[in-house]
Amino acid sequence: MSRSVPTDKLGDALRIKPGSKVQLDRFDAGQTLGHDKTSAQKVEGELEASLTSLQERLWAEAKHPVLIVLQGIDAAGKDGTIRKVLDAFNPMGCDVTSFKVPTPLELSHDYLWRVHSHVPAKGSIAIFNRSHYEDVLVVRVHGFVPEATWRKRYDQINDWERTLTEEGTTIVKFFLYIDKDEQKRRLQDRIDDPTKNWKFKSGDLPERALWDEYIAAFQECLERTSTDAAPWYLIPANRNWFRNLAVSRIVEETLDRLDPQYPPPEPGIDKVVVD
Ligand code: AMP
Ligand code: MG
Repeated sequence: MSRSVPTDKLGDALRIKPGSKVQLDRFDAGQTLGHDKTSAQKVEGELEASLTSLQERLWAEAKHPVLIVLQGIDAAGKDGTIRKVLDAFNPMGCDVTSFKVPTPLELSHDYLWRVHSHVPAKGSIAIFNRSHYEDVLVVRVHGFVPEATWRKRYDQINDWERTLTEEGTTIVKFFLYIDKDEQKRRLQDRIDDPTKNWKFKSGDLPERALWDEYIAAFQECLERTSTDAAPWYLIPANRNWFRNLAVSRIVEETLDRLDPQYPPPEPGIDKVVVD
């Protein structure tokens, strides 16, 4: 039987504890932890209002940078999640970067160079749609660099993320997990629905054939790089409404923990009258 977890405990339930084992084939991508669509959509409205207010104060205060990393296999819903979460935010103070196949310029640098230039400034939220994690995922699956090279990257990534968090950045990472049947449905839909054709690339099919290799790479990545400083959350993502609920709630509690405050007014403002 599926567990029932109240909204304010979703973060605790879905956070990957550092050092724990991850077995995606035993993880139910369709679970909703006791929530149903109708009540979730109601909570969503409240979450959205809260996110809007938190982000405004974060931006006004200009003290804390926040980095949100989204990873997931093709069609896991990274774009849809961004659309949903961003709905709550003022675009000023929020940047989305989508990391694609590296350009020759990017490839001529170390793999962290292109991501480091997009980390958030104080008061800003940066969302990474794919990230430096591609360099232990697609790069591993396709053998773009030797194993000895990508294997060192787990520690390098932990060190780099720790540097950012020690310097004040808050990092949250979401792995959106759909199962193989759900990916089939979504890819087929991209072929059948003319308004979604643009999302389909014939290269998606050979990638799907590497499902097991990707899952092995995801598992090791989640096990090696979920840290107290920069935790991964494993989100059951077969149902978009539950994925949105979980991600919105976890982002909300992350911002809430920072307790952003409007900065104090200029001294003497109470005596100023505009004429
Ligand atoms: P999409 O997110 O659908 O626009 O696709 C972006 C593509 O870029 C995906 O196929 C990723 O696997 C690929 N990609 C992203 N980062 C890297 C990287 N570091 N090395 C190779 N391919 C990458
Ligand atoms: Mg794609």
